[in-house]
Amino acid sequence: MKTQKSKSRRFTASTETIVERITEAVLEQRLPPGAKLGEEKLCEIFGVSRPKVRQALNRLAQNKLITLRPRRGAFVTQPSPSEAQQVFDARRVIERELIERFAACATERQLAELDSHLEAERRAIVAGNVALRNRLLGTFHVGIAEFVGNEVLTHVLSDLVSRSSLVTLLFQTSRAASCSSDEHAALIAAIRRHDIDLAIRLMDEHLVHVERDLAIPAEPASKFDLHAALSIVRGGTKRRAAA
Ligand SMILES: [Zn+2]
Repeated sequence: MKTQKSKSRRFTASTETIVERITEAVLEQRLPPGAKLGEEKLCEIFGVSRPKVRQALNRLAQNKLITLRPRRGAFVTQPSPSEAQQVFDARRVIERELIERFAACATERQLAELDSHLEAERRAIVAGNVALRNRLLGTFHVGIAEFVGNEVLTHVLSDLVSRSSLVTLLFQTSRAASCSSDEHAALIAAIRRHDIDLAIRLMDEHLVHVERDLAIPAEPASKFDLHAALSIVRGGTKRRAAA
């Protein structure tokens, strides 16, 4: 809407496009954790004003994909290995108890719901939809907490799952995600057989596996090129076809 200041027809991205392009670049690891997202460069790359870039950055910060640091700017979130360790440790403590309670009282309707959830996980994995598969692999656990029916525990677990989900989103391979889903299936089978001890052991092992299969770098941001990572075909076409 501005007067024609630019030299030629400039590509102007919408806030949604900026959010989508940065999310995609982070998920595909073109933008490494710890990478700085300079506002000025983003304005240049997307052909937009600062308020629009800030709007997009705020949106990304809400999803915790980027971290805004006062006076320093925006960075791709860099989860710390020790924090991840503590989060998974806390999950093991809580989920051991939750799975024991659930295995003792699970109804066929609840198990059928988990079966459908499992199918959705598998579809997302096969489709290569990283964001969706990550969300579903996390909500499987929160779903079990909801079935147990203690809202406080559900709230605590939900917070822990969202913290570990950021780490799995960034560092879980497709193969590890697929193993995770298979372990969910084994858990459901154990609960269906009312084998409480096995369900507890499987949950414990599952959380150990998920954590073990993550490769979280201790050092932030290797070299990267913001322009190349977010490169745009002028006219707004996506650089790659969506999977
Ligand atoms: Zn899981």
